[in-house]
Amino acid sequence: MNNKTYYKKNCKMSNIFLRLYSLNNKKGFVWPIIAAYIIMYIVTMIMQFRFNKVVMISGVVAQLQVITSVFLVIFLDNVGYKTAVIINSFQEIEVLIVVVLLKTHEALPGTIQPICTIITMYFLINTIRYLKDKINETAFQKEQLNYLAHYDSLVNIPNRTMVIDHINELINKSKKEQLGFALVFVDLDDFKKINDLLGHGTGDEFLIAVVSKICKIIKPDDMFGRIGGDEFALIIHQEVDKDKIINYLTSIMEVLNNNIELGDLKLKTTASFGVSIYPYDGNTCEDLIKCADMAMYKVKSSGKNGIKFFNKDMKDAVLQKIEIENNLRAAIDGDELYVVFQPQYNIIEKKLRGFEALVRWQCVKLGFISTESMIPIAEETGLIVSIGEWILRRACREFKQIIGDSDDELILSVNVSTVQLMKSSFVDMIKDVLYETGLNPNQLELEITESVFISSVENATKILKTISNLGVRIALDDFGTGYSSLSYLQKLPINTLKIDKSFIDNINDRKQFVGDIISIMHQMDIIVIAEGVEDESQFEYLRRHDCDCIQGFLLGRPQRMKELMESKFII
Ligand code: C2E
Ligand code: MG
Ligand code: MG
Repeated sequence: MNNKTYYKKNCKMSNIFLRLYSLNNKKGFVWPIIAAYIIMYIVTMIMQFRFNKVVMISGVVAQLQVITSVFLVIFLDNVGYKTAVIINSFQEIEVLIVVVLLKTHEALPGTIQPICTIITMYFLINTIRYLKDKINETAFQKEQLNYLAHYDSLVNIPNRTMVIDHINELINKSKKEQLGFALVFVDLDDFKKINDLLGHGTGDEFLIAVVSKICKIIKPDDMFGRIGGDEFALIIHQEVDKDKIINYLTSIMEVLNNNIELGDLKLKTTASFGVSIYPYDGNTCEDLIKCADMAMYKVKSSGKNGIKFFNKDMKDAVLQKIEIENNLRAAIDGDELYVVFQPQYNIIEKKLRGFEALVRWQCVKLGFISTESMIPIAEETGLIVSIGEWILRRACREFKQIIGDSDDELILSVNVSTVQLMKSSFVDMIKDVLYETGLNPNQLELEITESVFISSVENATKILKTISNLGVRIALDDFGTGYSSLSYLQKLPINTLKIDKSFIDNINDRKQFVGDIISIMHQMDIIVIAEGVEDESQFEYLRRHDCDCIQGFLLGRPQRMKELMESKFII
């Protein structure tokens, strides 16, 4: 349904009272009334002249005329008031004629009544006008409130409330008519970047431009609304055919892929689309929203800029995620987390360089949960802040216990999530842990990923410099999976670069590639560690190309510190 039509329908009710006044238009009413009073006064006059005195009927006509005046003014507004003045003037004239021609004072009081009626009607019409204005004003305010309650004030399309109302309306209608419809969640990809880089003002302008372009291709029966930030909903009326829905959404994608001009700026964007279909994916508004949302998140997690229809597997994945999240909250207190240490070696002489601490979770209820499942959920929920602090403290304590006060400059690497790093209390937390454990700052290395620079380069740079000034080392983890930008490395206090396992896996097919990275890093005084080294050929390649250190199953798997000690890894 067209957005405006829907809104107008809702507002019509508030106008019903005002419509009573539309009798205004029926001006044809007044002529019969005037004619009737002319006849009545002529008859009254004739009777008075006939009987040569004031007759009772003149009083009756006068009273009737007061009532008529009131109705005229109420229902015919200005025309009614003028008519009331005319018929009251007839009475005045009639009374004066009678007084003059019959030379009787008996009728004189009758001259006062029409004047009083005209004055009363004057006050009445003004009171009515005043009330009408008030009603209009209230109706306008009501309309405005209604508008604000149902429309998004920035982009001027239905808001979440109206979208939900419309979905419920469609569900009721579709139940009766046995029809289906589609709900699409649309989320602009990387809109946050536009806001961060160009400011919120430009972000708003961009949203307005995007919405106006999309609205041009939305079919009249469908509804396109904003449900928050850069998230929109499209309700496709009576459509369940997947191919047709894909075609429709592809046309929206094309619109977004074309340049959107904002003054001198030309911006392009993409979006992720998640689709749920009534009645197959749910028969309540809540279910349909959840399903569309899950499908949309699936698009986001698999590289954005795409369309996905909801399926049952997505629901299972989400339920599993919720279960992990619920159990993770109790994991620290329940002593379910522990830290393992994977050795890192200098490539020359295979001498131990140190360890990378990695978290493990043996959940009492769900069994062993992999770090790949756990870390993203911990980051999403913010639990990574407390979990990360626990890991750092535990890893430093265990590491310090083993190395004691030995002179060996072994290094402990601990992974730090971007969410953790961006917390204002992060640097103080590091200082506390170092103080508590007595670990030498330059024996601690924090592993960060390039995602820290996506949220805020400036902020990340500031925090990293402060940490570096403490003497703590900084390693850039998983190099090769993100932007792999060399410019960050030049600006930041990075001591170590860890080349991701995906580069090492087929290192021999990459010819000179990894070797080149190593030599560039050396020119920048950055140490290189190769991750996930599993076989001798990889080791050989890395040794040949002067890689500094290696970490991988070839030389050591992650183990608990106790087990590592038993295998006599240490000192
Ligand atoms: P990462 O920091 O790059 O850690 C290296 C991962 O590669 C570890 O997986 C390690 O077990 C695995 N690995 C090392 N050598 C080999 C190898 O030769 N072959 C194979 N197939 N794998 C190897 P893990 O422990 O499952 O950790 C996965 C990721 O989870 C880590 O990648 C890190 O990003 C994150 N993570 C792990 N522990 C923590 C933690 O304590 N805090 C945070 N924030 N993230 C962590
Ligand atoms: Mg790491
Ligand atoms: Mg890594």
